[in-house]
Amino acid sequence: MNNNYQVLARKYRPHTFKELVGQVHTVKTLINALDANSLHHGFLFTGTRGVGKTTIARIFAKSINCESGVSSIPCGKCSTCIEIDSGQSVDLIELDAASHTGVDNMRDILENAQYMPTKNRYKIYLIDEVHMLSKSSFNALLKTLEEPPEHIKFLLATTDPGKLPITVLSRCLQFNLQKLTDKEILGQLKYIMKAESLDYEEDALSQIASFGEGSMRDALSLLDQSISYGKGSVLVKDIKAMLGLVSHDDIIELATHLFDQEPQKVIKFIRKLSHRGDNLTNALHDLSSLFHTISIAKTISSDTIDKRITKLSSQISNQDLQIFYQMSINGTKDMPLAPSEQIGLEMTLLRMLAFRSDSAPVN
Ligand SMILES: [Zn+2]
Repeated sequence: MNNNYQVLARKYRPHTFKELVGQVHTVKTLINALDANSLHHGFLFTGTRGVGKTTIARIFAKSINCESGVSSIPCGKCSTCIEIDSGQSVDLIELDAASHTGVDNMRDILENAQYMPTKNRYKIYLIDEVHMLSKSSFNALLKTLEEPPEHIKFLLATTDPGKLPITVLSRCLQFNLQKLTDKEILGQLKYIMKAESLDYEEDALSQIASFGEGSMRDALSLLDQSISYGKGSVLVKDIKAMLGLVSHDDIIELATHLFDQEPQKVIKFIRKLSHRGDNLTNALHDLSSLFHTISIAKTISSDTIDKRITKLSSQISNQDLQIFYQMSINGTKDMPLAPSEQIGLEMTLLRMLAFRSDSAPVN
């Protein structure tokens, strides 16, 4: 890595619909509309953070303002395409309502919509987190949306469409972007690691992908962190240390003490994890996952099941597994309210021990 290290999310931001990961349905609809040049004046992209709302909006902006004509494949070479990619297009007005709420000049900017574009075919307003616009800005937006001049396109993005007035919703084509799957994120992480010629373990990238919880942006910033932590390589042991993840073996050991009904060992073990600085909220999350694995092992027999899982599954009834699972999920929910992570985890596991319905497994 050199000194001009550029964050991965920016360096690998997709510049064409083809490079975009996921959002197949939205992209297909947009491509069809662009290639038929039948364009609505208002588009609303909804979805959680880091799923590609503004990225799609920027590609769309290039598609309609590219100097070689409206199409789903902007040239990427004309001055307009280059200006949009570098955030310097005069006719693409990007506003972030989250950081400008109540600022009067946003209303002025929206009221200027009636003026013609400076250089391009369309004057495009890309408004992120549009639900956070101030009331006066909303009114200015609505006024234009109600009778949009030919030269105007609105690209609105929000994580919270429920907060948008129906008057805005009804005047826009709405696209609900999905969270990305772990597989989609993993594919992009691998692509980037190869492009950067950096070493990685596939399991480490899988862990990062799953930690992203559907957000490419979050996964990429975690990848940035782990590349710098691992001095250029991404390894499982580094990810675990960096995130304070509890190893699978430790989760199995914790479950073993729990199923053996050994409260002292359970507490001692939790304190060991806590002393080591492990992430105990995550440990509880992984324990819920283990209860699910054991339940499935009891339901569907298979030769490929880990022997330790088979042993654990013989020690507990389906009924208790259900109760433990429910308690671990509730314990995770309550974790932010617990005086500390350690107390939260200890009380959750003690609750499981207190409420276990039987000592011998009944199937
Ligand atoms: Zn172009």
